[in-house]
Parts: sequence; structure tokens; C-alpha cells
Amino acid sequence: MKEILVVGGGAAGIAAALSAAEAGGRVTILEGLNRPGKKLLVTGNGRCNLGNTRIAPECYHTARPDRLKVLLKQMPATLTTDFFERWGLMTMADEAGRLYPYCRQASMVVDVLLLALQRRGVAVETDCTVTEAFWDRGGFTVKSSQGSRWRSDALILAAGGKAAPKQGLNGGGYALAKGFGHSCTPLYPCLTALRCTHSALRGLKGIRVLCTVALCAGGREIARESGELQLTEYGVSGIPAMQLSCRLGAQKGANVSVDFFPDCSMRALHTLLRRRAEECPDSTLEDAFLGLLHKRIMYALMKEAGLSPLSRTVRTLRPEELARLAELLKNWRLPVEGPMGWEQAQVTGGGIALQEIGDDFQSRCRPGLYLAGEVLDVAGECGGYNLHWAWCSGILAGRRAVGEAEL
Ligand SMILES: Cc1cc2nc3c(=O)[nH]c(=O)nc-3n(C[C@H](O)[C@H](O)[C@H](O)COP(=O)(O)OP(=O)(O)OC[C@H]3O[C@@H](n4cnc5c(N)ncnc54)[C@H](O)[C@@H]3O)c2cc1C
Repeated sequence: MKEILVVGGGAAGIAAALSAAEAGGRVTILEGLNRPGKKLLVTGNGRCNLGNTRIAPECYHTARPDRLKVLLKQMPATLTTDFFERWGLMTMADEAGRLYPYCRQASMVVDVLLLALQRRGVAVETDCTVTEAFWDRGGFTVKSSQGSRWRSDALILAAGGKAAPKQGLNGGGYALAKGFGHSCTPLYPCLTALRCTHSALRGLKGIRVLCTVALCAGGREIARESGELQLTEYGVSGIPAMQLSCRLGAQKGANVSVDFFPDCSMRALHTLLRRRAEECPDSTLEDAFLGLLHKRIMYALMKEAGLSPLSRTVRTLRPEELARLAELLKNWRLPVEGPMGWEQAQVTGGGIALQEIGDDFQSRCRPGLYLAGEVLDVAGECGGYNLHWAWCSGILAGRRAVGEAEL
């Protein structure tokens, strides 16, 4: 029986261990924390959005989309659902194709997986931080900071990335992979809030607003997202901002442009404001435009347009001031300082270069070494894409690790 070591007991490591054990390997997971699957408990706000029925390369970010496309071809959504069905977890998809456990409990996903590991006889070593891994005398030697040492025929590196350090050991997998000759593309926090500099933000803290947000840099639009934006004292959060963070990369001088009325053209909005103004020339600006948008946002935009909502009457409003207000409602610009740090990020952008692994997730630097999950240069958007990548890369790596070891 082939000995398989898996470094990391997260989604990718557990999936790899289970499929390697099913394929006939003797498998041990080495996990630095006191239990495997800890991060899974907080995924999807405790509901675990474990996959998506609409897997497509466009839902992922990587330096090598060509390689990703090939790898994803082997990973239909059913690879995830079949995997969970096999271990007894009922799943369901919502109207957007997002897959969840039927009971909507992330803890149930972990319970099912831990039971499966037990049933399959996978050994789990916890509180075991791997610090060294190398190839010698026809096998892998792995050492932990606690002084333990293991040998194996194949090694699966599924140690995750740098995001959310409170939920797992962070970043150690890159050094282990580099020890085998791998290279790493630049790492950046993904699926995180954006830090913006704008004096109005402090007063808008806590407001959630449905809108469209565009990320712009160098005079062009890089990406656009719609949904519920959360305004915070430090910038913008919520799913649209998180999605945009994946597109920010190392961009400098970027802006987000918020369109509070995406379904209304600039011209139509301008006409609407003008009609309102004409209907009540003696009203204050506050009263004239009441009911259009969250009051605090409207105040902030009027202030930015140089208008005082309470002391100015509509009669005193100049056409260029009205046009400026319409412009701000459609294109409110917030200079972006950068993404929030690793603490808030849900996933790591960048990682071990995809051209350095084969279609079977085997290292092209060291045969018998496999890489799976977030440690690789793949970051998915919100919607279950990251866990899909983690499970599926783990499943494929686990299967092939046993197959290759048997050759
Ligand atoms: C708050 C939050 C919510 C999320 N929600 C979703 C969601 O709903 N849907 C979705 O698709 N994705 C979600 N994600 C992203 C998803 O959780 C990750 O992409 C996925 O868990 C990556 O799996 P992984 O196994 O590669 O890495 P991880 O889950 O990070 O697992 C790696 C494991 O390796 C261990 N480890 C690291 N280094 C060592 C070492 N040297 N020795 C031993 N062990 C080591 C770590 O402790 C960890 O347990 C969320 C992330 C966060 C932070």
C-alpha cells in the first residue's frame, strides 16, 4: 500500500485525503491547527456555499487563464456534488446556481467530512506544523516544528494561502513548494473590502445601498459589479466591492465609481431632477429631492456639489449645479487606496504558478508531489467557486497521487 502524506487539513486536503484513501492509499493528513476543516465553519456566513452549478473560467482569476481552462475542464460541478453525495451530505442549489448543504449548516459539512475520514481510515495528525519537506532516497521526508518526521511515496501540498489567518496557519505552503523548485506569482488579498479615501465616508458608515460599482484606473473601466454595496468608514464592502478587489491587483491610482441609479440614464435622471425642481421652486433642496435616495447619501452628494440641502431653495439652483448633482448620483468617485489586508480577505490572489503543474495536479518540478487548493495561483469570485476549486483539485490530486505512486 502506498503511503500518502497530505499537508493541510482544509477543504483541498480533506478531499485529497478521502480520494487517495478510496483509491487504495494509506493516507495521513498533517494539520497545523488543533482540528481539520476549521475555516469551513465560517464559509458562506456559516452556511458554506460549497460550489456552483455554473463553473466557468471567467469566474476565476489567475496569471495563466489558458492553463486554468484546461484544469477546469476536468472539474464539472457534478464532481463536487457527487463527492458530497458519496459521503452522505445532501446539497441544493439556489436560483443563482450556488450550492449549499441542504441543511445550510457549514458545521454539517465538517461533521460529514470528519466521519468520512474516520470511516476511510485516514490518520489525522493535528497541532502538526510542517516546516520542511524534501525528496531523498526514493521518497518524501516531511518534518514538523514539533520535531516529528514522516516518510511517504507521494506528497500532496494543500496548505492554503495567506487569506484569513485567524482561520488557519497561513502562507507556509508557498515556502514548502519553493523548496521543490516552484515559483510563486505575486500574492494579493482577494474578495475583500476596498479602502477608499473620501471625507464623506465617515458619515455614511453602515449604509447598504443597491447600486452598480465600477473599478476604473488609467482612464478606463476595468470591471463593473452590481449588488448591495456597504459603505464603511474606511471604504466600501459587500459583494460588489469584494468582487472588484480581485481585479485590483497591483493597480495604483484606481477609483471606484458608484452609480446609484444604474437603471436610469444620465439624461433621464437629469430630467427627473429638473422636473422635481420645477414642481416646487420654493422648497429646500432637501424637500425637493426627498424620496430618491438614502437621506445621508443625498446630503453627502449635495455637499460635494457645493449645495446646502437645508438653506438653499430650488429657485436658487443654477442649471450647472443641477447637472453636477445628477453627475454625482450616476458617477460618485471614490479614490481607492488598496484592498483591505489579509485579515479580511476570503481568498489569496496569486500563488504557485499553474504552468508548473500537470493536468493531474502533479508538480512538474518534483514527480510524486501534488498541489491542490488555494496554494495554487487561482482565486475565484464569490459564489462557491473557491471551494469548488479546492474540493476538485484535491479530489483529482488525491486520485492521481495513488495512481502515480503505483506506477
Ligand atoms: C470568511 C470566509 C468565508 C468564505 N466563504 C466561502 C464560501 O462560502 N464559498 C467558497 O467557495 N469559498 C469561501 N471562502 C474561501 C474558501 O474557504 C477557501 O478558498 C478554501 O477554504 C481553500 O481551501 P484550501 O484547503 O486550499 O485552504 P485552507 O482551507 O486554508 O486549508 C489549508 C489548511 O492547511 C493548514 N496549514 C497551512 N500551513 C500548514 C503547515 N505548514 N503545516 C500543516 N498545516 C498547514 C491550515 O491550518 C489549513 O487548515 C471563504 C473564506 C473565508 C475566509
